[in-house]
Amino acid sequence: MSSLSRRAVVTGGAGFLGSHLCDFLLERGYDVLCLDNLLTGSTDNIAHLLGHPKFKFGKHDVTEYMFVEGPVDAVLHFASPASPVDYLEMPIQTLKVGSLGTHKALGLAKTKNARFLLASTSEVYGDPLVNPQPETYWGNVNPIGPRGVYDEAKRFAEAMTLGYRRYHGLDTSIVRIFNTYGPRMRPNDGRVVSNFIVQALQKKPLTIYGEGEQTRSFTYVSDLIRGIVALLEADKSPEMETPFNIGNPEERTVRYLADLVLKLTGSTSPILKQPLPVDDPQVRCPDIRRAKSI
Ligand code: UDP
Repeated sequence: MSSLSRRAVVTGGAGFLGSHLCDFLLERGYDVLCLDNLLTGSTDNIAHLLGHPKFKFGKHDVTEYMFVEGPVDAVLHFASPASPVDYLEMPIQTLKVGSLGTHKALGLAKTKNARFLLASTSEVYGDPLVNPQPETYWGNVNPIGPRGVYDEAKRFAEAMTLGYRRYHGLDTSIVRIFNTYGPRMRPNDGRVVSNFIVQALQKKPLTIYGEGEQTRSFTYVSDLIRGIVALLEADKSPEMETPFNIGNPEERTVRYLADLVLKLTGSTSPILKQPLPVDDPQVRCPDIRRAKSI
C-alpha cells in the first residue's frame, strides 16, 4: 500500500505507541484519524498535532460502535492498557478493548474495505519455554493468572483478526510488539525502563523485581514504528496472514539495565530488591527472521 492520499484510523492514537504512529503516518502523507478514550493515553501526546490539517482526534471508547465518515484505507488497532501495572489495575477494560474493541475495529475495516493491522504483543508467548521466540511458538500462558487479562485478550484479538481474514477475506496483518521505550512513556507508567530512569534521577532506590536475572529485549520506539509501517505498507500476500515479531533481538537482564541506567545518569541510587510479580516472564527475546525477510 503506498502512502499517497491514504487515510488511516489509529485506535489508541493518544497513547505512547499510538501517538508515535500518528506522527510517522502524517510524515508519510497519510490523513490520520486518532481515536482514544484517554484511559491511559493523554492529549499531551498529540497536542503538537492538533492544528495539523491532516490530523483529527476523536475521544471515543473503541469498545463502542465506531462511526467514521468517508473513506478509510487502514485501521491500526493500538488501543489497550499495556503496562503490567495498568492492566492489573484495569482488568475489565483490558479484556474489553482486546475483545470488543478488536471486534469493532475489525468491523470498521470491513465496512471500509481497509487493511487492518493489529497491535499484538510478546505477552502471547507468556513465560516462554522456547528462547528466542519464533512466531510459530504457541506460548506458555497462564489464562487465570493476573497477566491473563492482557495475554488472553491479545490472543483472542489475534484469533478474531484471523477469523475476519479467513471468513470475510479482510486484508490483515498482526505485529507482536516486544518491550519498547522512548519519549512519552509516562514517568509513573510502571515499566522497567521508565521506573529505573525516574528512580535514578530522583536518587531513589532502583526497584529490581526478583534477582534481576530475568531478561527482556528493548526496542527504541522509532525503530518499532518504522517496522510497523513497513508491515502496513507491505504487499498483500498469503504470508501476511500470520503474525510478525518486531523487536530488538539483543537480550539483556534487568540487572544489566539497572547498572546501565546508573552509569548513564551518574546516579548513586542503591538497588532495592522486591518480590518478583506473579507469572513474570523469565526470558523474552524476539526471533525476527520473518520481519527481516519481508
Ligand atoms: N521490573 C523490575 N523493576 C521495576 C519494573 C519492572 O525489575 O521497577 C522487571 C519486571 O519484573 C520484568 C521486567 O522488569 O521482569 C520488565 O517489566 P515491565 O513492567 O517493563 O514489562 P513486561 O516486560 O513485564 O511486560
